[in-house]
Amino acid sequence: MVSMLPPDLRGERHSMEELASQSCLLPRYPQRFWGASGDFWQTRWETLLSTFEGNEWILYIIGVVLVPGLCFWGFNGLLLMVDRTGKPTFISRYRIQLDKNEPVDPVKLRQSIRTVIFNQSVISFPMLVILYPFLKWTGDPCCRELPTFHWILVELVLFTLVQEILFYYSHRLFHHPKLFKKVHKKHHEWTTPIGLISIYADPIEHVVSNMLPVMVGPLAMGSHLSSITVWLSLVLIVSSITHCGYHLPFLPSPEFHDYHHLKFNQCYGVLGVMDHLHGTDVMFKQTKAYERHVILLGFTPLSESIPDPPKKTGSALGPSGPLPHQ
Ligand SMILES: [Zn+2]
Ligand SMILES: [Zn+2]
Repeated sequence: MVSMLPPDLRGERHSMEELASQSCLLPRYPQRFWGASGDFWQTRWETLLSTFEGNEWILYIIGVVLVPGLCFWGFNGLLLMVDRTGKPTFISRYRIQLDKNEPVDPVKLRQSIRTVIFNQSVISFPMLVILYPFLKWTGDPCCRELPTFHWILVELVLFTLVQEILFYYSHRLFHHPKLFKKVHKKHHEWTTPIGLISIYADPIEHVVSNMLPVMVGPLAMGSHLSSITVWLSLVLIVSSITHCGYHLPFLPSPEFHDYHHLKFNQCYGVLGVMDHLHGTDVMFKQTKAYERHVILLGFTPLSESIPDPPKKTGSALGPSGPLPHQ
């Protein structure tokens, strides 16, 4: 677990930042890139700070609610268009579970959108407001000096590891038969998920599995608002990708979590590290879905280049045949 960094240790944090920026283990190019445009971002940030002087909490709300929220709804708006119409086909051709959600059920979709908006406004929003004084206690989220590019990278790696551990265990706990029925079943109503199902969950699950694993990292590190905004936006977009049902080129593979929605008792984590350690991905590793679990670096859908084996009863179903993962 990462260590807490109270305000009096902020100097130590800065020396860690310097260390991160000087480390030969980290790529030099991004640092130079950031160096070239660093003044630009620093000036923008200082303009924002002077605009909201005395009301930094407004900047905080913009950074943790508005920007990540726009990322989420902007991205999922595009995905919903594909889910409802099947167009454009250059996206829908990358569908993982073939012949499912074509088109997505409008009644089920409306009900899910209501739950997502409820979770965002009644749970996420107050939790992020409550986080603010705690962030001010462990750091200075609206510090005048922006963190370096390398430090943001280091933080993102740490946040991801913290999220992987906390999400894995809380998610696995919610698969205990008693908790599953009461809490987690809702999220699993979608065996063929779509992007916004990433935050379609029972309120208890949304607090414990979705929000806390994402908030603990920035809180423990006393992070700057810029890191937190990048982190929350990335989490929402990556989580939407892992639920979206399309294995799109040059984006993270959604096969792992899609398989979890299909089979329920495999692939509980985000990265797959914890599943590897606990052996909860053994079945997954024997499937074609596992072979497809890579970043697609071309334009041929992986469902065509690595098709599921044909069904025993149907001889010529081919890659467009029903029931993948059989
Ligand atoms: Zn899910
Ligand atoms: Zn689950």
